[in-house]
Amino acid sequence: SRKFIVGGNWKMNGSKSQIGEIIEFLKKGPLNAETEVVVGVPAIYLEHARSNLPETIKVAAQNCYKVPKGAFTGEISPAMIADVGCDWVILGHSERRHVFGESDELIGDKVKHALESGLNVIACIGEKLEEREAGKTEEVVYRQTKAVADKINDWSKVVLAYEPVWAIGTGKTATPAQAQEVHQSLRKWIAENISADVAAKVRIQYGGSVTASNCKELASQGDIDGFLVGGASLKPEFVNIVNAKC
Ligand code: 13P
Repeated sequence: SRKFIVGGNWKMNGSKSQIGEIIEFLKKGPLNAETEVVVGVPAIYLEHARSNLPETIKVAAQNCYKVPKGAFTGEISPAMIADVGCDWVILGHSERRHVFGESDELIGDKVKHALESGLNVIACIGEKLEEREAGKTEEVVYRQTKAVADKINDWSKVVLAYEPVWAIGTGKTATPAQAQEVHQSLRKWIAENISADVAAKVRIQYGGSVTASNCKELASQGDIDGFLVGGASLKPEFVNIVNAKC
């Protein structure tokens, strides 16, 4: 069975003092030991967060580039993330895709290189509102997943995060039924296009306006294996979201 995994994506938020407060509520918890917890930290604070958090809480970068080093001003590599003691990276987040113009192909290359460098990857997918309204939700998430699948063979260190763009930071959470429908069809697509084994094992997180009050019902859906949480991951209620399965 798939271990529940909750990620907190801090995005471009926090300062040393605010991170200190987040670390305090994470340490206080208590956090369900049956749930894997990963926090996505701004690159400049990765080492700080890693050295101040308990080992049981994993630390992720929020992005990285597709090669180990070189003339790529402003970028960081998976090797650097690993060098400061972190072993996860979030890739393909909707803000990377839609604010910074990252393509499916670039995201596929980044996932491949991050895995080759030994990192675990949270690979994000999700449709925009106009795509959902045009009935293209499945087509979009299959295309985004295929762009990753075309570049990798081993899915054991990959978690997928389904984050409908219209639900991110809007307070408009997908209903448990809406999220379950996409997760279920995605798993079916994976079974048919990757393998039955990967489909059975790959964890699919839901992200988009997850809060302490809506997390339990979402967590009860058969194909929802965790969450990727933005705004609420900066607040003590994140502890309740980690404990959604309790
Ligand atoms: P919110 O939880 O703030 O909607 O953000 C979701 C998200 O983008 C997590 O990666």
